[in-house]
Amino acid sequence: MFIDTHCHINTMIKKEFDVPLPYNFESLAKTVLHQAAAQRVTQIINVGTSLIESINCVILAKTFPNVWATIGTHPNDLSDSWKNDIIAYKKMLQTTDKDTIVGIGEIGLDYHYPEFNKQRQYDAFRSQIELALEFDLAIVIHTRDAHDETLRVLEEYKQNSIRGIIHCFSETADFAKTAQELGFLLGIGGPLTYPKNQFLRDIFTSVPLTSIVLETDAPFLPPQYMRGKPNSPSQIAFIAQYLADLRKISVDEVAQVTTDNAHKLFRIEKVVE
Ligand SMILES: [Zn+2]
Repeated sequence: MFIDTHCHINTMIKKEFDVPLPYNFESLAKTVLHQAAAQRVTQIINVGTSLIESINCVILAKTFPNVWATIGTHPNDLSDSWKNDIIAYKKMLQTTDKDTIVGIGEIGLDYHYPEFNKQRQYDAFRSQIELALEFDLAIVIHTRDAHDETLRVLEEYKQNSIRGIIHCFSETADFAKTAQELGFLLGIGGPLTYPKNQFLRDIFTSVPLTSIVLETDAPFLPPQYMRGKPNSPSQIAFIAQYLADLRKISVDEVAQVTTDNAHKLFRIEKVVE
């Protein structure tokens, strides 16, 4: 079996961002989950990006036993009231079943767009890491054009044994090495298949399989053969085969090890197939 460690079914099943789930969300999500299960993708981590999307993720996780949520605010989604969002996350963690919310994310630094407030990103990143530490949860990191700053923040928490995923890994081999030393796994999906990303294929051929988790980031970042179309968790099977071919190992080995990595990180119970 496979686990998609990073997707946004909440975004796939509605037309706008940052609005509640539609009334028929259950049947829409069921279709996505059935398509994924047909490709052996039977477990899903649905990742939050804002308060309202995090609430949507928790609703989905409560509705489906094989779906879990992470909650948090993405660096590009921080509003003036971000501190209130963190208070709300804390409440959600105190009042929600322990096996519903398995991580904090996606959080991090994104300096790609100059209009975003760097200080606010830094403050929110740190206070969400501290929330993860308080509740002993994994963190899901988004980093873009901010590699040194991201590593510097993670290094500050080295002694606290933080754990998590560098989501949509697209940094250097050196970054990969430091991230692994800091207790992080590397998340990979569609970008592994993009022609321009030979550097990623090199990194993901040589890092230990025990440091890799599979993710789609659906509906974003589809594999090369379906670029321009919405991605879905079912594509994990394609990514796994692609990675297996790169590493010249069996897809079953990829499935087994990457699933195990995700289970340990998120402390999810194994299920018998
Ligand atoms: Zn994402």
